[in-house]
Amino acid sequence: MSILKPSLLDFTQKELMEQIKPSFRVKQIFGWLYHQYAQDFDEMKNIPKALKEELAQKFIVNPMKIIRKEISSDGTIKYLFELQDGKTVEAVWLKMKDEQRDENDELIQEAKYTICVSTQVGCKVGCSFCLTAKGGFTRDLTAGEIVAQVVNLKRDNDHKHNRKINIVYMGMGEPLDNLTNLAKAIEIFQEEDGLAISGKRQTVSTSGLSSKIDKLGEMDLGVHIAISLHAVDDELRTELIPMNKAHNINSIIEAVKRFPIDTRKRVMFEYLVIKNKNDDLASAKKLVKLLSGIKAKVNLIFFNPYPGTTYERPSRADMIAFQEYLTNHGLLCTIRDSKGIDISAACGQLKEKTEGEL
Ligand code: SAH
Ligand code: SF4
Repeated sequence: MSILKPSLLDFTQKELMEQIKPSFRVKQIFGWLYHQYAQDFDEMKNIPKALKEELAQKFIVNPMKIIRKEISSDGTIKYLFELQDGKTVEAVWLKMKDEQRDENDELIQEAKYTICVSTQVGCKVGCSFCLTAKGGFTRDLTAGEIVAQVVNLKRDNDHKHNRKINIVYMGMGEPLDNLTNLAKAIEIFQEEDGLAISGKRQTVSTSGLSSKIDKLGEMDLGVHIAISLHAVDDELRTELIPMNKAHNINSIIEAVKRFPIDTRKRVMFEYLVIKNKNDDLASAKKLVKLLSGIKAKVNLIFFNPYPGTTYERPSRADMIAFQEYLTNHGLLCTIRDSKGIDISAACGQLKEKTEGEL
């Protein structure tokens, strides 16, 4: 089913100005969308009724609604959204840093948050460890549906438009498989009169479509990339990520070397650690070799099991030994905190749970 009406969130300010006159109204509407987080035309108080009625013929405001929410004790909130055609996707509100107060209880620094967004309903890549892959691919999200996840989460958490937020494209779907809409969303997020989230605050995570990494680089949007590497040899990587056959490790490393990166920054390599698969020090050694010559940062992720998977979570001791090996050999490496471990934290798990209950 196609989306019946586009959302106002699908467009850059310039594009809206081509469709809506006079253009100062577009500035006002932008304020309603991105500063007030309006859900529908009724909320747009200073827009004339006639214009609102005209707009409502062509556009909708918010293309999705929250249908489920799980709140973790660590501040992580996982959302399930229903789209216009009834399909569902997830987004996650992650608390990265607690607020800081001095001895007089005065606020020194506000808490820091990151939003993890989805780019597709399902995914074509079919990784063997990923729950999203199990349901196959349904459709790409529109730019507006990507943008709306951030607008809705900021609204739901009462997060002012000018408070800083980071975006990671690490929810459901392969962002580079929906490059046109992804690039449009990145651009809309950057709008000065909108959310003004710079490329530096946006990280695209990819399973490694190397040709699309080049395309994203050519677009020069100023975003960071994170590569879901997960394995150091092609045999295991192909078992985990079938499309590694077409885009092997070497082609990804070459594409990363060509990617325009802020000289002060590093490329993040995500390494999902699965017990007895890739958690040994021989793999760590190969990883050091593979990434030599790249300004890299490795993020080790505990595999998060779900019912029906044969893969297992690695032990903390093996994880730490792996990290120590990398650090001792000069690679910057963090272990990703399992945020929201008490809720359905990994990609696709809340959706799966909800559909199981329906
Ligand atoms: N498709 C993109 C972005 C979405 S997946 C990609 O693959 O990079 C985001 C991250 O979640 C990836 O690094 C993926 O490997 C990880 N992931 C998927 N299933 C997981 C699981 N069961 N436990 C832990 N991480 C998982
Ligand atoms: Fe798709 Fe990423 Fe899941 Fe692989 S890990 S199936 S690329 S969402």
